[in-house]
Amino acid sequence: MFSLLRRLGDALRPRPEPISDERWQAVVTACALLQPLDAPQSQRLREFCARFLADKQFVALAGAELSAQRCLLIAAQACLPVLELDYDYLRGWYQVLVYPDEFHMRNEHHDEETGVVTDVEDSRIGEAWDYGPLVLSWADIEHDLADPHSGYNVIIHEIAHKLDMRCGAANGIPPLPPGLPRSEWKRTFQQAYEAHQAAVDAGEEALLDADAAESPDEFFAHAAEAWFSNPALVAAAMPAVAELLRRLFRPGRDPASA
Ligand SMILES: [Zn+2]
Repeated sequence: MFSLLRRLGDALRPRPEPISDERWQAVVTACALLQPLDAPQSQRLREFCARFLADKQFVALAGAELSAQRCLLIAAQACLPVLELDYDYLRGWYQVLVYPDEFHMRNEHHDEETGVVTDVEDSRIGEAWDYGPLVLSWADIEHDLADPHSGYNVIIHEIAHKLDMRCGAANGIPPLPPGLPRSEWKRTFQQAYEAHQAAVDAGEEALLDADAAESPDEFFAHAAEAWFSNPALVAAAMPAVAELLRRLFRPGRDPASA
C-alpha cells in the first residue's frame, strides 16, 4: 500500500528541470560552503537541487522577495547536509516559507514550577516541523552568505532538525548510517551537551550559543550548522562531536579536510 502511494506520489511530482551551468556557477560563487565540493559532489548537489525545486513550493510571506536564484540558494544549502546520505531524507514535506526578516511565532509556554500555561510570542529566524514547512528569514540567509564561516547557517540548522525528526521525536539523534553506532552517538553527544550546559550555566565562553543548552535536539542542530560553516572550529572545541558529524555527513573523507 505504502509503495503504491509512493509510486503515485512520484508520478504526480513535477519533473525536475535541469539547472543551467550559468545558474549553478552563480550559486557556487554566492555560497562559499559549496566551493570545496569536488566535481562529482557538485554535480550530485545540482541534481538534488533540481529535485528540491520541483518537490517544494516556495512561498514568500510578509513582503519577502523571492527570485528563482534565491530559491536555488536555499535549495543548495538545504540539500548540502544530505549530499552523502540520500535525497529521500528531504521527502515528506512540501513547502519552504520565506519571511523578509525575523518572524514571530505564537507558542505555549509551560512554567515547570507553577504549571501555568501562557501564550507567548517568540521571534525566530528559522523553524521546522515534522512533515511541516521549512520557515526561514531571508535577512539571516543573507548574513550567512556574507559571513559563511562564522559558525552559523540557519538553513542547515533547520534541516538538521528535519533529519533529527525523521526517526520519531526530536532527540538529537538523526538517522545514522551503518557503522555509526547509536550508542556511540548518544554517549558522545550527551557528554558534549552536558559540558555545554555547564559552560553556559557558569557564564563561560562556549563555541555554541546558549540556545544549544536548551535540549539535545537544539544542541545537535547548532553543532551541525557550526560544523558545515567551520569544521575546524568544531574540531578544535569538540573533537569527538566533529568526528561523528564527519562520519555522518562526509563518510569516507579525510578528517583533516572534513
Ligand atoms: Zn533550533
